[in-house]
Amino acid sequence: MYCKFHPKIQVSLICAAPHKCQFKRKMCVECQQEHGVEVKQTILMKKFY
Ligand SMILES: [Zn+2]
Ligand SMILES: [Zn+2]
Repeated sequence: MYCKFHPKIQVSLICAAPHKCQFKRKMCVECQQEHGVEVKQTILMKKFY
């Protein structure tokens, strides 16, 4: 699955920061940086497969 905002990048992370994203926001690495969360505050989507 590719990122809605960065069509060339695969979505691989879910925000797990304490600020509560709506719908546990799915993110690519670019989104993670824009979103301002650290890697340890995200969940790798691999864990769900
Ligand atoms: Zn978030
Ligand atoms: Zn993105």
